[in-house]
Amino acid sequence: MLNYRKDLEKMPSYDGVEKDYRIKVNANESTLNLPPLVEERVINRLSYVAFNRYPNEEYYSLVEQIAKNFSVDKSQILIGGGSSEIIEKIFHAFGGGDKTIVYPQPSFSMYKIYAKAAEAQAAPFDLDEKFDLNVDEFIKKIREVNASLAVVCNPNNPTGNALTIAQVEKIAASIDCAFLLDEAYVEFYGRSAVNLVAKYPNLIVARTFSKAYGMAGARVGYMIAQAEVTKMISKTFMPYHMNTLSLAAADIIYQMRDEFIPRIQMIVAERQRMAGRLSSLDGVEVFPSNTNFILIRLARAAELNEHLESLGIGVRYFSPDAAGLKNCLRISIGTRLENDEVFSTIKNFLEGR
Ligand SMILES: *Cc1c(COP(=O)(O)O)cnc(C)c1O
Repeated sequence: MLNYRKDLEKMPSYDGVEKDYRIKVNANESTLNLPPLVEERVINRLSYVAFNRYPNEEYYSLVEQIAKNFSVDKSQILIGGGSSEIIEKIFHAFGGGDKTIVYPQPSFSMYKIYAKAAEAQAAPFDLDEKFDLNVDEFIKKIREVNASLAVVCNPNNPTGNALTIAQVEKIAASIDCAFLLDEAYVEFYGRSAVNLVAKYPNLIVARTFSKAYGMAGARVGYMIAQAEVTKMISKTFMPYHMNTLSLAAADIIYQMRDEFIPRIQMIVAERQRMAGRLSSLDGVEVFPSNTNFILIRLARAAELNEHLESLGIGVRYFSPDAAGLKNCLRISIGTRLENDEVFSTIKNFLEGR
């Protein structure tokens, strides 16, 4: 018997079983690879990567671009292997046996796992039946449990709804502990709270290249906070934790981020169209979304999920014990053709055809 760390066996794991779907709308990825012009520039950039050197220049070049875009100092930014790594490190920085971390549920399923990994107490706060966050009660809970860290995903995964920036500010202003705002889907919402970082020393905003910028495979994300906070969190990272290839690619993608605007607009328009069509189906509840996915609820969700799967369509089905998500399916927005096929398959299933 190998002598593993205490409780490692009981550690939950991410239940992302991946199959080879024909239409893959289960993970909120970009359905399209990079725009051809961007791809060409990325490939060209990769052709002169210094494989022999640790990634210093590439790291700071990206930091500089991001800092300039948000008019913040370079010392306020940390880059990570996806925002997943950033979030995990922040949980680590505010974790430990005597700490409590508060986050809404349902929300990103990894928060619970990161809290466990950081050996902190997880204190989930229930969203209401419409998946709205009662901000005052949330603030009350954060104070009651004397949390070290509060986390909000805005817009929220998997429910799709969002807090206003005024609500985000109210939370930041009302609590003393660290406040992590996970903005993984903010490009589809258009309202970021990054500008509040200058005013609130407890606010940390996490962003990613994985969703709107179609770079999930390269694993790049970043965080913005005040310099003292960034400095403390950076202690939890290994030196040279980012690889040059991902950094160089992200550097080009960030330079060319305007090339993604038409795509983001297409996804938003397609989301509206899909939400309208799905709402027209009997017995399907569609939750309003500010993201690149839609959450629906219907009595036969499990059955529909199996049906879609049998036809090579992968959506995200939540296990019946996922708090608040009984009979829910989350469907990422794909191309118009993909969305049409997903919709007609659901419609035919419900109409018994
Ligand atoms: C996808 C996602 C992330 C991060 O993804 P990375 O690929 O690690 O950047 C973070 N938070 C939420 C809520 C997400 O849905």
